Amino acid sequence: MQFTEPSMRPPQEAHSLLLRATQGCSYNACHFCYVSRGFPFMAVKAEDLEREAQAYAPFFHPNTKVYLTGSNPFALPTQTLKDYIAALRKPFPHFSELSMQSRIDDISRKSDAELQELRNLGLAQLYIGTENGNEAVLKLMNKGHTAAQTIEELHRLDNAGIAYTTFYVIGLGGKGRGRESGWATAQMFNQVHPKRITTTGMTIFPNTPVASMVQKGEFVEATEREKIEELLIFLENLQIDTFYDGIHYLNSLHYRFANSNIQVKKHVLEDIRNTLQGYSDIELEQMVNRKAMHSL
Ligand code: SF4
Repeated sequence: MQFTEPSMRPPQEAHSLLLRATQGCSYNACHFCYVSRGFPFMAVKAEDLEREAQAYAPFFHPNTKVYLTGSNPFALPTQTLKDYIAALRKPFPHFSELSMQSRIDDISRKSDAELQELRNLGLAQLYIGTENGNEAVLKLMNKGHTAAQTIEELHRLDNAGIAYTTFYVIGLGGKGRGRESGWATAQMFNQVHPKRITTTGMTIFPNTPVASMVQKGEFVEATEREKIEELLIFLENLQIDTFYDGIHYLNSLHYRFANSNIQVKKHVLEDIRNTLQGYSDIELEQMVNRKAMHSL
């Protein structure tokens, strides 16, 4: 099977064995999305996965971590995922952890018993585009799930012992929705247990539905100041023991810290407040030249 979509992986999986599992996204309808668009959803056969893993076996430690690439391989039926894991166990009988990306509704389509079975077979972590805790914003961007569903499905992962890293798009709601989004997203995450929360700044990429919304006047991008204010409110209200990772080329401010480290967090909040006070709107806009950005 010939995939045409370039493989991507989260930075945290830089040292994992990366195996191509799917291309495209089974949903492919989020208005802001600039990845996977134009690539039909396809999955490899288990025997192809095994062949690829065999080829990499001499170069990786027997207990390597494994990451299955694709926008949401967790959409695949449980039996397919079990077949993949069985295929992987042949060249890597002792691989330590398996991770992949998932949508919230991919989790809802699996029973508690299936989640537990996949955990027992080695599924250790899912990377999930939760995006925002504001229901109106999720609807506006046609995300296909609600914040209430996010909480419900992440609780099910907690019960199964599957860790998760979540993605949060700052500025997703556009102009005027930053403060409420920051607050709602903190409240959503305060009810669950993400291992890590990673952020990215909302950017309008060409050929996306949100780019058409901008042209029609249906969406106005938030300013950098509003995005930074959203980040501040989010962090001020985030109370759980998690890891915040905002190092991303689409963010204007870059922090990475354990949310439980009170001293570091205090310093970060001061830095954000000082940035808002000390820089003009024009200077803040220049921190990220979004118009010149290309999707990676
Ligand atoms: S679920 Fe993710 S990959 Fe799929 S359309 Fe939405 S943002 Fe894009």
